[in-house]
Amino acid sequence: MDDELRAQVRARAEYRCEYCRIPQRYFYQIFHIEHIISKSHGGDDDPDNLALACRLCNLHKGPNLSGIDPEGGQLTPLFNPRRESWQDHFRTDESGQVTGLTNIGRTTVRVLNMNATHRVDLRSAIASLEQ
Ligand SMILES: [Zn+2]
Repeated sequence: MDDELRAQVRARAEYRCEYCRIPQRYFYQIFHIEHIISKSHGGDDDPDNLALACRLCNLHKGPNLSGIDPEGGQLTPLFNPRRESWQDHFRTDESGQVTGLTNIGRTTVRVLNMNATHRVDLRSAIASLEQ
């Protein structure tokens, strides 16, 4: 993966994590270019398989492609930022909590541990700065 492709992925994501939507500009550590389908599952460096992810989303996602929906208990794919719209699957409010609106949203919130207390607090603080 070359620097031009990395820059393209960052710009396409508008410099936000494509999973929890937190902006890069509040972090010293540069966000990761993440493989939506990990290399261990045959994913490649095609731009359609790449997403910008904050360190915590990337760490929790790891090579996962799916998880268990906390409501239905069914095996459910994780959110794919290339194929799906964030707004269709998630909502966030001024408290910083991310709510999954669909089975995919709920499963992704859970697997990526998006509502860990420190992450909710951080999103809330950033939301107040951006008002
Ligand atoms: Zn994130």
